[in-house]
Amino acid sequence: MPFCARACPYCDFDFEVGRGPKLDERAGQWLAGLDREREARAAQLEGQSFDTLYIGGGTPSALSPDRLRALFMWLEQGLGVAPTQLRERTMELNPEHATPALLDVIAEIGIDRVSLGIQSRSAEGLRQLGRAHTPDQALASVAHSVARGLRTSADLIVGWPGHTPALLERELGELVDAGVEHLSIYGLTIEPDTPWPKLVRRGLRVLPSDELQADLLVLVERELLARGFVHYEVASYARPGAEAIHNGKYWSWADVVGLGPSAASVRHADGAVERRVNARGIETWLDGGAPAHERLERDHAAAEGLWLGLRRLTGLDVERLCRRFLVARAWVDARVARQVELGNLVWDQQGRVLRVGDGRWLWHDSIGVDLLG
Ligand code: SF4
Repeated sequence: MPFCARACPYCDFDFEVGRGPKLDERAGQWLAGLDREREARAAQLEGQSFDTLYIGGGTPSALSPDRLRALFMWLEQGLGVAPTQLRERTMELNPEHATPALLDVIAEIGIDRVSLGIQSRSAEGLRQLGRAHTPDQALASVAHSVARGLRTSADLIVGWPGHTPALLERELGELVDAGVEHLSIYGLTIEPDTPWPKLVRRGLRVLPSDELQADLLVLVERELLARGFVHYEVASYARPGAEAIHNGKYWSWADVVGLGPSAASVRHADGAVERRVNARGIETWLDGGAPAHERLERDHAAAEGLWLGLRRLTGLDVERLCRRFLVARAWVDARVARQVELGNLVWDQQGRVLRVGDGRWLWHDSIGVDLLG
């Protein structure tokens, strides 16, 4: 859903700024565009079965209740997906929108899990991150969502300049006490094509420190494990049994269909990975802009599969990887040998499972550079 009420200075997602009647009009065009994309991809979508739904953004919660109902009606009648039959139906929500009234609408149309863009519980953190909500709205959104019986996840950004261990500990405690069953924790990363570097040049922001981020990410793990959460993926923590099913598809090499501007679809076939990324920018997408296509053949596909599969901290089933990407076990052994020697990767279950070594998850990206190289 490619609309936001304002642009957060660290964000490089594909969205258009809008609000009020203008946003509603654009949302109508977006819904019509989704149906045109469905028609254009009818042959690919034919016979597809779906078991999870993820509505991300942008800011899906900026849609009016009528547009949300229209979206779900289209899913059912246009796409043939009955949301309530799916194993998981997640929608991203901004805290300033998560009122009891909107949560009633969301639950009524079939959403069972919300991902709240909390990002910070501190007024200074929210100011730096350019978020529209207040610290009180952040906590209230969790309370309302939990009270409505929705599975509730919160996103938190760590390492903004001035973030401290004491503050982070308090934020985690408050969110857990309010009832989140899942937390996604991200270090603040600044992409070059975002407003943040310009703000740095004007003296209005500073760049985050990698060392501070690493210390805070370690603190997150310690605190959440002590509170009964499982650290199941590099950036994800959950109560046992509350792991995100949809997100898990990316780490377990499942096929995914994405619709809308910049949406990515992934298909696995004959050991290769075919990726389609829709045109960026709602206007270009509405005008029928061509998607980008990429096809990774076996070795490249398998190396990427290793990297993605290792995001899950319990590790990946190597025989399954070999079957999925049509590579030999010897290929895997050779590919990971250096990282195993360094202790960054370890074999479990008599060599059937490969996982990131204890405490090495912070280096997942650099391990990936080696595996993909
Ligand atoms: S609300 Fe989310 S998608 Fe929109 S600008 Fe902020 S971070 Fe990006």
